[in-house]
Amino acid sequence: MTELHHLSIRELSAGLTSKQFSSLELTQHFLTRIDRIDTQINSFISVTHESALASAQQADAARANGTAGLLTGIPIAHKDIFCTQGVRTSCGSKMLDNFIAPYNATVISQCNDAGLVMLGKTNMDEFAMGSSSESSFYGATHNPWQLGRVPGGSSGGSAAAVAADLAPFATATDTGGSIRQPAAFCGLTGLKPTYGRVSRFGMIAYASSLDQGGPIGRSAEDCAYLMQVMAGHDAKDSTSVEQPIDDYVAGLAATNADKPLQGLRIGLPHEYLKDGLDTDVKARVEEALQVLENLGATLVWINLTTTDAAIPAYYLIAPAEASSNLSRYDGVRFGHRCENPKDLMDLYTRSRTEGFGDEVQRRILVGTYALSAGYYDAYYLKAQKVRRLIQNDFVKAFEQCDVIAGPTAPTAAYGIGAKQDPVAMYLGDIYTIAVNLAGLPAISAPVGFDTSYSDQDNAQNQCSPLPVGLQLIGPYWSESKLLNIIHQYQQHTDWHTKRAPLALDAGVKA
Ligand code: GLN
Repeated sequence: MTELHHLSIRELSAGLTSKQFSSLELTQHFLTRIDRIDTQINSFISVTHESALASAQQADAARANGTAGLLTGIPIAHKDIFCTQGVRTSCGSKMLDNFIAPYNATVISQCNDAGLVMLGKTNMDEFAMGSSSESSFYGATHNPWQLGRVPGGSSGGSAAAVAADLAPFATATDTGGSIRQPAAFCGLTGLKPTYGRVSRFGMIAYASSLDQGGPIGRSAEDCAYLMQVMAGHDAKDSTSVEQPIDDYVAGLAATNADKPLQGLRIGLPHEYLKDGLDTDVKARVEEALQVLENLGATLVWINLTTTDAAIPAYYLIAPAEASSNLSRYDGVRFGHRCENPKDLMDLYTRSRTEGFGDEVQRRILVGTYALSAGYYDAYYLKAQKVRRLIQNDFVKAFEQCDVIAGPTAPTAAYGIGAKQDPVAMYLGDIYTIAVNLAGLPAISAPVGFDTSYSDQDNAQNQCSPLPVGLQLIGPYWSESKLLNIIHQYQQHTDWHTKRAPLALDAGVKA
């Protein structure tokens, strides 16, 4: 039989239904893999062995008495940004290292209600600020394809865990690319839903007008199963939208087997395929577009003239919102508190200085500066106006095409420690960030490999190729369409079935 950790969500569901294996066996299998392999990857901050085994037993009981759903008993990993009742919820920060959430995020309740078994909480950039998962208080996560490389960020732990077969799928969040870019760097599929599609209740806030939860999995089909669980209106989140939920799994069906994408117009922004894009990444994206064309789609060139304005606008708006959201960490009510404060100001200052890492402090400084009297109009307000122009640009583009395609990131995964200059790291968000400013849905899927290695990697004998991602951006509420297009692509290609080099697995027979 195929190894349990190679099975798709549909196969796991079928295996549990037909009693080929129990949830307890499955859960134990993944926990054993995590214990043996994650020392090399650091994709989990917390592994919840005991509660996972207890939930698995409950799932098996539900399967036995006929009350189980489709996903009951399937293990999952949750990004450590979602509050989990009774379990540490750190958001990758020393500030919340001691924080045991007193309630569940809506996404966690939805997953629990669906019978999914939480294996643990995954590593991430501190407060989701970053593109490499290096800013975590718990240390960098390593990319399973090449351990010397970053897995992307901020949901790098979720992506690395799935890529190393330590979890079948995972929850993640995306404020400026944090689902799509780690999915691209780790050879996975990741969906950033329309703003308001997935509840933000209990999801620790970074930049509230941009944050959105979504799934990371191996394929569009695996993501569709998780999206079915996560999507929906939530009265506890005032920005959650009362929009009917599509049946994402049923939506994967094709009406025309030969030309499933007949009639689909794919827009190619000139701005996404010009200088600055790695030649291997560009080549893989072009090959993927060729496949989509063969499946019936037509390609049309479009312009997104505001592309260059997205990074400056985002890096004012996101830090501005973050500076406000993070003011709650004051050392008084919860989170890190300094020792022996001499007065209230000392308590605030030292608790925050000790609790927050460099990148978080940098953003709080930028954000408070942009919001301060005298600079508000020049920076924050202007950035908001640019944000509207970016949104208008997309709305106009969707008059000419049904979806927009391009690379997810300008390069494949880079080396751990390679981007010391924060601005160099920000520039890597060029293709993902505008999507959040406009609130649109987008998906990243693996489309091949970058085969160029550095000498250093060769010296370390870690020269497996690195995955490359294609991004598709859709109009509001087009999640089902995006999943379907990638599913059709994945029916005709096998990039999503490729596995990270299992040198990791040497001697591991979990
Ligand atoms: N890389 C972006 C940032 O650092 C986006 C992060 C995210 O999507 N959470 O803010």
